[in-house]
Amino acid sequence: MNDLDPRAPLVLDTRELGRRPGSQREVTLTVPAPADLGIEVLAVPEGAPVDLDLRLEAVMEGVLVTGTARAGLEGECARCLEPIREDIEVTFQELFVYDDIRDSAEAEEDDEVSTLQDDLVDLEPLLRDAVVLALPFQPLCEDDCPGLCVECGVRLADEPDHTHEAPIDPRWKALTALTEDAEQDPQD
Ligand SMILES: [Zn+2]
Ligand SMILES: [Zn+2]
Repeated sequence: MNDLDPRAPLVLDTRELGRRPGSQREVTLTVPAPADLGIEVLAVPEGAPVDLDLRLEAVMEGVLVTGTARAGLEGECARCLEPIREDIEVTFQELFVYDDIRDSAEAEEDDEVSTLQDDLVDLEPLLRDAVVLALPFQPLCEDDCPGLCVECGVRLADEPDHTHEAPIDPRWKALTALTEDAEQDPQD
């Protein structure tokens, strides 16, 4: 496991809690989004502000982190490729176990468990998981986005009445022109 950088924006120091179960601290901060905060087609741009409301609470075996994150997403519609900008709010909770009370061999085998390192909490994986889980598998500009015309690529939401006539065999074109007047809808 890499050593945590205490100056990294998403690394929090919990020493203030003094490892006393029941002691807690509320933290509100804005951090720049780390890289890859999201999925390929919809993500918080790297460096964009992420607002965090956190509660750090010491419990017997570690520190319980409960939080809310708010940020702006950018991406594109999976059907029509229109840019998408929307806000996201996610909540998360994770118990970070004191690293020195865990058997290190066990800790290596079980990477499901988050650990504190020198009483530091790394929120980045927690935040990333929460954001990725909250994102749709296929982001859409609107729920019923009709996508693009398969023939010409026009965005169908912009042109709801968009159609293509079936291609006409050139040999019939002359004949069609001759009969056009006769075929006109009488109600027109
Ligand atoms: Zn769309
Ligand atoms: Zn078309």
